[in-house]
Parts: sequence; structure tokens; C-alpha cells
Amino acid sequence: MYDVIIVGARCAGAPTAMLLARKGYRVLLVDKATFPSDTMSSHFLQTPGGACLKRWGLLERITATGCPAIRNKTLDVGHAVFTDAVLPEDGVAACYAPRRILLDHILVNAAVEAGAHLWEGFHVRELLWEEGRVTGIRGFHGRGKAISEKAALVIGADGKRSMVARVVQAPTYSALPSLTCGYYTYWSGVCLQGQEIAQRDHRAVIAFPTNDEKIVVAVQWPREQFDAVRHDISGHFLETLERCTPYLAARLRAGVQAERFVGTGDLPNFFRRSSGPGWALVGDAGHCKDPILAHGMSDAFRDADLLADAVESGLSGECSLQKALADYEQRRDDAALPLYELNCQMARLEAPSLFVNRHMVPNTQKQRDKKGVTTCNNGVTLKP
Ligand SMILES: Cc1cc2nc3c(=O)[nH]c(=O)nc-3n(C[C@H](O)[C@H](O)[C@H](O)COP(=O)(O)OP(=O)(O)OC[C@H]3O[C@@H](n4cnc5c(N)ncnc54)[C@H](O)[C@@H]3O)c2cc1C
Repeated sequence: MYDVIIVGARCAGAPTAMLLARKGYRVLLVDKATFPSDTMSSHFLQTPGGACLKRWGLLERITATGCPAIRNKTLDVGHAVFTDAVLPEDGVAACYAPRRILLDHILVNAAVEAGAHLWEGFHVRELLWEEGRVTGIRGFHGRGKAISEKAALVIGADGKRSMVARVVQAPTYSALPSLTCGYYTYWSGVCLQGQEIAQRDHRAVIAFPTNDEKIVVAVQWPREQFDAVRHDISGHFLETLERCTPYLAARLRAGVQAERFVGTGDLPNFFRRSSGPGWALVGDAGHCKDPILAHGMSDAFRDADLLADAVESGLSGECSLQKALADYEQRRDDAALPLYELNCQMARLEAPSLFVNRHMVPNTQKQRDKKGVTTCNNGVTLKP
């Protein structure tokens, strides 16, 4: 019998397990995947996410993987380029983009070091119930026999198509269907120091440096173009680069595409009720959004912190577990809603005025010179 069982061991589940194990709870963390392993996600980590890693004592392990600090962001909307230094968050003045195969492994290892039990390659098929309350899980290691385990609380950290959410019938709210589709890949031999975003003609291009001296290049199109895009990914990708960001396209021609394209048209936007008798949801299982502003991982970290504190309040008897979990859900919604509105607006791929107004300092606006060089008043120079 555990205090908490967590289904899903990536950005949401592993930190939740780590935090609860550090508080002294008996935690079982299960995932059908084994680690280290990759997952479909580009991986730009905003400063609030970096601040969580720093607070948890894990930021140095991320920088030790060799992923570079990203200290400025540029938004090119065609008629103007906006550049700004990354705003510090709790003393973290850079963004990072560690490969998920590295990041998720660091998170899982931290959970195990804290004392959580890890079952890798374990597929949860059912929840156990007693008198209308979730009391545990049942699943399989590969083709082995069914194994059941019980806990005071079962947490679904099992992603946007969460099995836990489906079985407890967690209602969805503020939902929008997929607004975009997207593909990303990696380039070698291209110099890119900051994050570069170009948005125009109902398309967005996002590029940033990652491990192994590679850069990530991602493109998003309106969702209705998914069928056309996936039948000629390379053609659509390169055409969009030329159209939206010819200066980046020119730099990419000097390098080599180092990996295959990865992408999806399944990018839904929703909140789910995230607590009930014996269960809770965290990460994409409870709140998911288009990756256009790259906040999914940071938000999962934030919610892991909120949920771990709530579980402590509930299991220590400070208040009832049900009330603590309801408070967690409210705090998550209060924190997430403003950015969610902006994210949905951006995912419509219309003129990004709202983003510019809120996130870019207007006086850093610069026009390019004739050679395509942009010099910004914070000292950043972008060469074509
Ligand atoms: C194309 C794309 C690009 C993105 N780019 C970014 C970005 O640049 N920056 C950013 O911050 N976010 C980005 N995101 C969002 C980010 O990937 C998610 O927000 C984040 O991965 C959520 O983490 P999670 O732990 O909640 O879920 P997941 O990462 O989906 O992990 C869920 C885990 O649950 C396990 N699981 C599921 N069902 C079961 C079961 N029945 N039994 C056992 N295990 C189970 C899975 O194996 C998986 O390991 C992107 C997403 C996509 C799709």
C-alpha cells in the first residue's frame, strides 16, 4: 500500500513523485515507457520552468548536459523585428532547451533518488475502485500477469490522452479543438544563439539551440492544412521557412538537417476537472494547450509543485484531502488561465499584436538594414 501512485513519469509525473518522496511519502511512479527515452515534443523550457529546476536542485544537471543558455528572443512579424533579453525568473536569466531524452531521465532519476519506487515498462489498464472512490491501479509489465497496487491517492500524469481522466470521466472545460498542426526537426552546422520566432501568412516558425550543437526548427500551420502538409512535409517545411524567415532559411542551407521530421495534428486545448475521490490529474492530463508559446513543460513543473503541496496538506490532516485537491485545481486554473487565453489567440496564427504588447518591449523594435542585419538596443545583433 502506497500513499500515492502516479501514472506517467515525465515532466508532470516525475517531479510530483520527487517532491512527494522528499516530503516523506511512499510513492509509486509507473510508466509504460522505459527511460531514457524520447517523446514527441519540442523542448523549449521557459524561465519559470528553469526556476523550478533550480529550486529543486536540478538545473545544474540540465546545464551539465551541454544545452546552451538562451538569453534572448526575437519575434519577426514581417514588417518589424522585436528582440528582447529573456526576463529573469527567481534568479534564472536564461531559457534552456534540453532534449527530452535527457530532461525526462534527469527528472525520473531525481524521483528515484528521493525514494520513489519506479516501475518502468508498466502499462496501467484499469483503476481499482471501492465505494465510488479510486483506490489503486491494475496493469501489466509487458505480457506478464496482471499486477494490482493500492494507494490513498492515484495521480494521472499520463498526458493529454490520459487514461486516468477517461476512466474517472473528468469533465473538460474551456476547450478548443486543435487550431494548428506542426512538425519539427534538428539542424547541425547552423549558428543560432537565441530563440527566433517568425510569424506571418498564418504560419509560425520557431528555432532555438539545443544539445550536441544542434538547433531545433519547428513550423506550425493552421490545423486544416494537416493533410496537405503531411503528404509533403519537407516541401511545406522549406517553403514556409523561405516565406516567413528567409534569413534563417539561408543559414539552414549552409548546415544539414540532422534528424527526421516529427509532428502531429493532435494539439488540443482544454482544462479538465483535476480532482475527485481518490484521484487527481497533473500536467497535460489536466490542462493541455497548443505548443505555440512553449509553456507545457513549465506549467507541468508549476502544477507538480502545487499538487505536491496540496497532497501534503491533505495527507497530513491539515485539511481534508478532497478540499486540498479542490484548492490545487483552483490555484492551477488561476495561474494558467491568462496565458491560456493568449496561447489560444496565438494558435489562431493571426497577427501577433497581443503577444507583442504583453511580452516584447516596444522600444527594442528595429528595422533591418539593407544587408539584413538587425541591431537591437539591448546589444543583440542578428546577422542573416
Ligand atoms: C509537437 C509538440 C511540441 C511541444 N513543444 C513544447 C515546447 O517547446 N516547450 C514546452 O514547454 N512544451 C512543449 N510541448 C508540450 C509538452 O510536450 C507537454 O506539455 C509535456 O510533455 C507534458 O508533460 P506530461 O508529463 O504531462 O505528459 P507527457 O510528456 O505526455 O507524459 C505522459 C507519460 O505518461 C505515460 N503513460 C500514458 N498512459 C499510460 C498508462 N496507461 N500507463 C502507464 N504510463 C502511461 C506515457 O508513456 C508518458 O511517458 C510540446 C508538445 C508537442 C506535442
